[in-house]
Amino acid sequence: MKYLSTRGHPDRKRFCEILLEGLAPDGGLYLPEHYPLVDDATLARWRGLPYADLAFEILALYIDDIPADDLRALCRKTYTAEVFGTPEIVPLKQLEPGLYLEALSNGPTLAFKDMAMQLLGNLFEYELARRGEELNILGATSGDTGSAAEYAMRGKKGVRVFMTSPHGRMSPFQQAQMFSLQDENIHNLAIRGVFDDCQDIVKAVSNDLAFKRQWRIGTVNSINWARLVAQVVYYFAGYFQATRGNDERVSFTVPSGNFGNICAGHVARMMGLPIDRLVAATNENDVLDEFFRTGVYRVRGSADTFETSSPSMDISKASNFERFVFDLLDRDAAQVRALFGDALATQGRFDLSARLPLARERFGFASGRSTHADRVATIRDAWQRWQTMVDTHTADGLKVAQAHRQPGVPMIVLETALPIKFAATIVEALGREPLRPRRFEGIELLPKRVTVLPADVQQVKDYIAAHSC
Ligand SMILES: *Cc1c(COP(=O)(O)O)cnc(C)c1O
Repeated sequence: MKYLSTRGHPDRKRFCEILLEGLAPDGGLYLPEHYPLVDDATLARWRGLPYADLAFEILALYIDDIPADDLRALCRKTYTAEVFGTPEIVPLKQLEPGLYLEALSNGPTLAFKDMAMQLLGNLFEYELARRGEELNILGATSGDTGSAAEYAMRGKKGVRVFMTSPHGRMSPFQQAQMFSLQDENIHNLAIRGVFDDCQDIVKAVSNDLAFKRQWRIGTVNSINWARLVAQVVYYFAGYFQATRGNDERVSFTVPSGNFGNICAGHVARMMGLPIDRLVAATNENDVLDEFFRTGVYRVRGSADTFETSSPSMDISKASNFERFVFDLLDRDAAQVRALFGDALATQGRFDLSARLPLARERFGFASGRSTHADRVATIRDAWQRWQTMVDTHTADGLKVAQAHRQPGVPMIVLETALPIKFAATIVEALGREPLRPRRFEGIELLPKRVTVLPADVQQVKDYIAAHSC
């Protein structure tokens, strides 16, 4: 399998070449040259597989530059009951007939990003050892991504993580999760500033090509194809749990921000998984809902980007969306370049309303929007009706899913985080503290390993140089 850029760069690359890269050289995103089709006999065979072996079968269709035995071993090392809490890895819970929650957040940091990031950690370690190279991962986080990256890379050979976060602005639980890590290859940098300052620092360092090359700086952001393809697996696993045979169809509702999670659902559907609807649920930051309602994609400025109680979906633009648009435009790279390179840069928007029927009918997309009041009501409702406590992001999904249910088609809502990560809204909705998994009891009291720095690019660079080898 070769990979191409959504903006038409002539190079074709293999999986391990793009594994450690971010964007393609022309600013596009990498996609496989085609989506492998899965026939009925293969689906039937996969139905009985343990999660790790299912992951291997799917990844092997996209990765031909890692020997099969090594890839299978990497999958089995990643997806274990010890790390993900249950033998099913992503157990399905029926709320009522036809409505399910698929649990993606029982990994080390209690959010679905662990599903992909844990595999990425093992892939990075494997590939760096094979090349005899090292990598310094630099990132900015306001919560979920940074902790998922740190728990995936902790103790890994050849990898160091430098994670900036806004000093004193993450929830006490999130700070404890990250700062209690004592691994030598994990560096928490609390920046005196806000999240945007952290992002600006990462950008400034990445734009200094000489520094970047000298200190082998890399990232683990959500546009990484390896993260996306790892997420394809749980759409298959959810489908197999909700159905008895491959003649049945299901729909998925996905709490969405950067469009990474639901884009994996799109890939699964393109491979032939019998998915009826893919419903994108947004919060008040409704860039995606607006597109699937009107066909207009309009990125937001920071003044129009709201801080909500489902913060991991507070986005101004959806960084993976370009991948879907590429398929929607029949893979016309020149048109993608015109839209994402030119129209967004000059007008901040583009109009694909002529293609909207195709997005809905051929690609199965639908959408909906949820607000803080909806979240609170949904959390309360789920607790009363099904004795199930959901987090704020999953609540957005559950709220939107209800409006898109169809008779005879099971609706699976992806649970993207556990309530303990967003305790304040749970208390507001239920008047009680959220459930806390036993391994996190007392985590706020553990010793913290963090360095506080001013919002100053040079000081961050100096820190990296002093702590790399
Ligand atoms: C990252 C995240 C999302 C959004 O996922 P995307 O892939 O960016 O669409 C939703 N919920 C939670 C809890 C997250 O951490």
